[in-house]
Amino acid sequence: MNNKMNAAVVVEFGAPLELQKWDIPTPAPGQILVKTEACGVCHTDVHAWRGDWPLKPKPPFIPGHEGIGSIVAVGTGVTTAKIGDRVGVPWLYSACGHCEYCLSAWETVCADAKYGGYTMNGGFAEYILADPNYVAQIPDGLPSAEAAPIICAGVTTYKGIKETGAKPGQWIAISGIGGLGHLAVQYAKVMGLRVCAIDVDDGKLAHAKRLGADLLVNAKASDPIETVKQGTGGGAHGVLITAPSLGAFKQGVGMTRKHGTCVLNGLPPGEFPTPLFDVVANCITIRGSFVGTRMDMAEALAFAAEGKVKADIELQPLSAINQVLERLEQGKVASRVVIDFTTA
Ligand code: NAD
Ligand code: ZN
Ligand code: ZN
Repeated sequence: MNNKMNAAVVVEFGAPLELQKWDIPTPAPGQILVKTEACGVCHTDVHAWRGDWPLKPKPPFIPGHEGIGSIVAVGTGVTTAKIGDRVGVPWLYSACGHCEYCLSAWETVCADAKYGGYTMNGGFAEYILADPNYVAQIPDGLPSAEAAPIICAGVTTYKGIKETGAKPGQWIAISGIGGLGHLAVQYAKVMGLRVCAIDVDDGKLAHAKRLGADLLVNAKASDPIETVKQGTGGGAHGVLITAPSLGAFKQGVGMTRKHGTCVLNGLPPGEFPTPLFDVVANCITIRGSFVGTRMDMAEALAFAAEGKVKADIELQPLSAINQVLERLEQGKVASRVVIDFTTA
């Protein structure tokens, strides 16, 4: 048997990924080995490749945290997964399981969490090692390529929408209608919210309209704060910022309704100014939100399995990874590119 696998490797921050042959890893006790069928390309992979964040991965590493495939080997002691199960290897690769956050279903902020495609090698490879306690269980009938964006973009926005506290019938403003945002629009509609979609690209806005958005705002063409306030009668009850652009953050706070919540999902490097008087005097909550728990993951996948939410995907081979990352950085990906490993 061929014991090598193809992998796209970051060898140096910002340099093109190298397509390399790596040994297929062997699962250690407690680990599983997944044969990748599909892996989505998230804007976080751009940040990882660029070394954008204070916590940095260590090159050489294999990015990708939307990998879906079947288990082909299990290490000793694994009881919760078996060969043949279809799973996803997400951003929350593993956590300690016993700190105050893990015990209270906030494993996403565990200090010992490991991150797939970042501090652990990820899905831009034909095989992925994973922790069976943290993989996503992919429902039967949901194709792997369609499941891929759900295990990061989907769960992140589903959780982010819940964290806004917006109730059915109320307004949510979603800033950034890319990989995360096009799923956020769909989750928000299923959850009974009125959706205001904001982007700087008319093509993305047209897509949001097709997905059911009630109000469209091009942040470049008009003052987005005023336009949202007018269109929603005083601001959105919930705001979800997915745009990887600092300018969108200040705008997002400004379009939040009094006593509303602005949830931050996007992670461009840097900081943004907060208008203290407005935030305090209007009782606005600004809240960070980082992927989702395993329970959020199961719920987010269930919506997709029921056909209520569907990722729009463009399939590409692993060999196209550098062009895909560049297009993503330039805002030229329509929704989500998924690397297809089944035709290689
Ligand atoms: P994407 O590139 O697919 O989509 C970004 C969208 O934002 C594009 O449609 C782009 O046109 C739009 N945009 C750019 N500037 C804008 C602006 N000023 N106003 C409004 N829209 C603007 O990216 P993605 O994969 O959806 O990821 C988005 C961000 O979310 C990244 O920073 C990523 O790292 C982060 N992210 C965070 C989490 C989390 O857990 N919090 C999870 C996944 C991704
Ligand atoms: Zn992601
Ligand atoms: Zn923990």
